[in-house]
Amino acid sequence: MNKQALPKVLLSLFDTAGEGFWFMSDDNVVQFYNHSFYQQFPLSMEDSTLDDWLRLVHPEDREKLLQEVDCHRQALLLARVTTRYRVKNVSGRYLWIEATGVRVEYQSGLAIVGVHKNVSEEVLLNQYLTHMATHDSETGLFNRHKFLEKFPSLSEKTWILVCCLAQLQQLQRQVGYEAIGYLSSALVSTLDDVLQMKYGLYRISADVFVVTMEQAINSEESLSLLYKIESVFHQVGENDSILSSRLGLGAIPVCALSVTAPLQQIFDLSEYSRAISSPITYMGESQRSIDRYFVIHDALESAVNKHQITIALQPIVEAATGKLISFEALARWEHPELGSIPPSEFIPIAERLGHIHALGMLIFEQACQYLVMFDAKHHARPLVNVNVSAHQLLRASFVDDVCKVVAHFGIDSTRIVLEVTESYLLDENPTITKALDVLHTHGFKLSLDDFGSGMSAITSLFRLPLYQVKLDKVLINEAMRREACLKLIAHLYEFGNTYNITLVAEGVETSEMFKRLTEVGISYLQGYYLYRPCSPQVWLEKSVFE
Ligand code: C2E
Ligand code: CA
Ligand code: CA
Repeated sequence: MNKQALPKVLLSLFDTAGEGFWFMSDDNVVQFYNHSFYQQFPLSMEDSTLDDWLRLVHPEDREKLLQEVDCHRQALLLARVTTRYRVKNVSGRYLWIEATGVRVEYQSGLAIVGVHKNVSEEVLLNQYLTHMATHDSETGLFNRHKFLEKFPSLSEKTWILVCCLAQLQQLQRQVGYEAIGYLSSALVSTLDDVLQMKYGLYRISADVFVVTMEQAINSEESLSLLYKIESVFHQVGENDSILSSRLGLGAIPVCALSVTAPLQQIFDLSEYSRAISSPITYMGESQRSIDRYFVIHDALESAVNKHQITIALQPIVEAATGKLISFEALARWEHPELGSIPPSEFIPIAERLGHIHALGMLIFEQACQYLVMFDAKHHARPLVNVNVSAHQLLRASFVDDVCKVVAHFGIDSTRIVLEVTESYLLDENPTITKALDVLHTHGFKLSLDDFGSGMSAITSLFRLPLYQVKLDKVLINEAMRREACLKLIAHLYEFGNTYNITLVAEGVETSEMFKRLTEVGISYLQGYYLYRPCSPQVWLEKSVFE
């Protein structure tokens, strides 16, 4: 309906509106009524056609708009349709327009009349909010919400890779927040280099990234990708100390992920990959180990708090007399579902989770309690050996804590042998060396555990005020096979004599071992051949001490 057909007053009214009013006949002639709105578009307000308008519509939206117009023309009288698309304005920028049209009768036929509204601000705001909601602001990568949105559409046949920046927090402390920028771009260029296929990358927590792939791969392929990622990431970071950060890497098949809570398993895998140093796939045996690791992980704190971790005691025997000179207290945990969990499994977890001090003190108290009960029954006055983790020695309160416990039980500190495992910490950390010196001055005896197990730093023997060195079972077994190793043990024995350090052979399992070790002078032995670790009650009942 052309303008002349409308009363002037109506047109003036239209011109005060912020929206555009239009009319389109079924032969595609379009009338735009108000200058106030349509002046922002490069088109003639008179004699325009749908094609003129479509030329301004964004190429991606054109097809859809045309279809909607066609559809609308098939609709019933008064049918109302609203749609949104982009239209180019006089300065060449696309505006988001919301068009609402109504099917009306016109000159014994039909036409569409409607309004155009500029909704750019609303759309851009929405787009921005959607972007914010689905992207991580620090790295610009997709975030956890986006991953959860994408997750249901991932094919069951594909795998996801989990990359964990193991030292991010430490690096952020050292170099500030830009560390994450460096590391995430190093990760992106590593993935670009290694994957050579379309992939999605999501930052699902501060230091955990998930890679999705569209291509189906098997477990060997995914493991080999992880190894490549590990090596390329290190090459990328070779010349930059910030980038020499360690990556924890794991892969998990989409079919193994819980449909309702995939993140839990991904976080478990990332934490596990952070704890161990080599890439891991969540499948078969390793899947069972990871699941078990987290059952232990989750139950440990409460087991320590509820004193569910107890001790077994294994005697250290003087070869010449058969006397039990000491008992080594070994941590024991009977889990209601998993049964007995070996300390080699839960001690490293306790160290990682920061529960080792509480656990160590629990063992220490039980060991002291045992001596009190032992003394009440027997004349002999054996020692007790307690394992101490390096993490405990780093605690400022450690010396005070152990002194309080021995005072509480009325035990002479000279009856306590603290076993410290050799590690680089022993040699290099002054806090630990200092703590050991102070313990020594308080009368505690110090023992170097697991000597010969691989990381032996013979210098420890000179630096620390040692009472005892325990030769690891690996070294003892080796001595049974190789004469040179047995000779080394004989030398160590001489050395111990000179410096007044007693040597204990661990892992003595046979009479042959007993014989050969005592022949070269080892006078203290510990192992299944002599006694197995048993509960305090068992030892208290025994009469081998009189
Ligand atoms: P470890 O301190 O070297 O303790 C000796 C380990 O060897 C014990 O294993 C003991 O049961 C085992 N053993 C004893 N005789 C023999 C033998 O003849 N043959 C063999 N093959 N093994 C023998 P367990 O109790 O499983 O403890 C393993 C490790 O866990 C300990 O090694 C120690 O490093 C750690 N651990 C145990 N309790 C504690 C604790 O209270 N605190 C800390 N920090 N570590 C602990
Ligand atoms: Ca030990
Ligand atoms: Ca040992």
